[in-house]
Amino acid sequence: MSHNNCIFCKIIAKEIPARVVYEDAHVLAFDDLNPQAPCHVLVIPKKHITTANDVVTEDRERLGQMFIAGQKVAALKGVDENGFRFVMNTGQDGGQSVYHIHLHVLGGRPLTWPPG
Ligand code: AMP
Repeated sequence: MSHNNCIFCKIIAKEIPARVVYEDAHVLAFDDLNPQAPCHVLVIPKKHITTANDVVTEDRERLGQMFIAGQKVAALKGVDENGFRFVMNTGQDGGQSVYHIHLHVLGGRPLTWPPG
């Protein structure tokens, strides 16, 4: 399940440090190294999935767990009431730079639309 040279698999394996915000059997959430907002947390599945294009039917529950974990993170970071944004960049045009799916939880300031 863990992919060689995947930086997020290494964070799951605790081979690379991260500021963990939330963890359970299925997902890990940690502060983004280069935050774009006062709250910028990444929620990742413990199973390596490369991009949103690689999600399969058996991942349905896992994706739901990521969503619920993102909701918990928003509450833990105190951005749930004012609002926040879930983002999943996919592939080159989507701006994906790490190829292990991750839900960005962004909040703590008003976010503009459309994105760049
Ligand atoms: P994306 O560009 O959507 O693939 O997002 C990847 C995110 O991972 C970026 O926001 C990076 O700042 C973040 N990132 C990369 N390496 C690390 C790391 N070791 N710890 C925490 N965040 C990271």
